[in-house]
Amino acid sequence: MLSHPTMNGICCPPNILGQEAIGIVEEVGPKVRTLKAGDRVIILPVIACGSCDYCQREEYSLCGNTNPSKEMKAEYCRVPNADLTCIRAPRGVDARKLLGLSNVITTAWHALELAEVQEGDVVGVWGCGPIGLAVQQLAMLRGAKKVYAMDRDSQRLRSAEDFGMTPVDVSLHQEVGEYLLSIQEEGLDRAIEASGFRSVQKPPHAAMRAIGLERDSGDTLEDIIKATRKGGNVALVGDFFFTTHDFPIGPMMQKALRVRGGQVCPQKYYPFLLDLVVQGKLDPSSMFTYEDVFENIAEEYHKFTRHEVPGRLKVCLVTSFGRREQNQESGDMNAAQES
Ligand SMILES: [Zn+2]
Repeated sequence: MLSHPTMNGICCPPNILGQEAIGIVEEVGPKVRTLKAGDRVIILPVIACGSCDYCQREEYSLCGNTNPSKEMKAEYCRVPNADLTCIRAPRGVDARKLLGLSNVITTAWHALELAEVQEGDVVGVWGCGPIGLAVQQLAMLRGAKKVYAMDRDSQRLRSAEDFGMTPVDVSLHQEVGEYLLSIQEEGLDRAIEASGFRSVQKPPHAAMRAIGLERDSGDTLEDIIKATRKGGNVALVGDFFFTTHDFPIGPMMQKALRVRGGQVCPQKYYPFLLDLVVQGKLDPSSMFTYEDVFENIAEEYHKFTRHEVPGRLKVCLVTSFGRREQNQESGDMNAAQES
């Protein structure tokens, strides 16, 4: 699984990357109660202690006692506090569906919870990457009446349209917020930011980033605050780490917007999300538009950074162990079909 290698300067060597994976339990420590060797598991992206005040409130990503890095770009990894970090998964479900449940689907659901998306809502989602597309599909699943999908990548916009969203190419509109109000007069009921610091495009922010006056960008937030109706909800799940200039604090306050953000608290949404996949109501595998062997990880990172991944979404990297499992499964399936 690939994520952006630089993260706006937050993740640097010698950090080992990797926060989404599935696998088979090889060995368990003495305090593990719910897992045993041989179990198939989804490894969640947030390690939490389970006992501090934050964890007691199910705010697992805010846990003060744990290390967020699991170093999972590897054949083997150590998973601390495994009872709370691993979700046992059935053997019969496609590996890519389970992998999508680790970080992407959980983050998307978290965004919808933060934004309180309800039946009949008009929703705007900034970003049509894997998480943005997942937010859009899950918004529909929650009964949204209409979902606007913002991006500048034509292929990603086509994917959003294929899933039934109304695509908006932000590169065609100088003021995206104004444009949305021109076609959706009442404004958005809920708006979700799923693109983060990478979306800088307006000249003032691009200039301030270039000379180091700001390290994050409020481009999308300006549009979101403009396009959301009075009393509406805004949720931020895209990557932001620093500060930005020209933040529209007045409109945000005067419109009485409810703005929330934060890293996903994945443990909170299980078994509900896994059940959706097992019941066939949700298929996260479509986010993986390319698959490669784990040994090509460096090359795939370069392609991902340059937006050259076929299908423009996620790459599924399969270890040699994973490949043996896949072969075993397809062998079993052929045998079942032949019998
Ligand atoms: Zn905790």
